[in-house]
Amino acid sequence: MEKVDLCYKCKKNKVSGKGADFSFVHLGMQIKIFKWSGLCNECAKAEWIEGFERDAKEFIEVVDGKPKVNWQRYREHFNTGEFYGQRERLHSLLKDMGILSYEAKGNWEIVADGPIGLNPRSEVSYLYFTRQEDVMEFANLKYCNTLYPWEIRHIDEVIPRKEVIKNPVY
Ligand SMILES: [Zn+2]
Repeated sequence: MEKVDLCYKCKKNKVSGKGADFSFVHLGMQIKIFKWSGLCNECAKAEWIEGFERDAKEFIEVVDGKPKVNWQRYREHFNTGEFYGQRERLHSLLKDMGILSYEAKGNWEIVADGPIGLNPRSEVSYLYFTRQEDVMEFANLKYCNTLYPWEIRHIDEVIPRKEVIKNPVY
């Protein structure tokens, strides 16, 4: 007989046992998350909303399903490094909300001479802005007094190494 796994949290709903992408709507916003195996859709959604309320809500105003980030407040709150853990969790939530991304293609970056990327970084990755309004405001607030030059770039095309190197020489 096939073994049926139940969600480890609610112990009611069946789960597939495999991680998967999962989308839902919260406050009119389309949220996309990666759901770990063992957790049902309802519990995954509830967990995300709990995290949003705790770590993100104070920085975000949602109008007609469109999230607006208060980067001024972000800057003040995370200035000292004291709330490093919350900053990491907020970055992850902003990624789920489609505001930040690990993907360069089609997204925005602040670049100083060098070139050196000035976008936010998470523990695991460098992050790109998906919306022009966010990168403009973030740059204005954080880098307005720098003595070095920088600019904002939109990344149109990204070709991965394996597509560039057709005949690798070992
Ligand atoms: Zn559950």
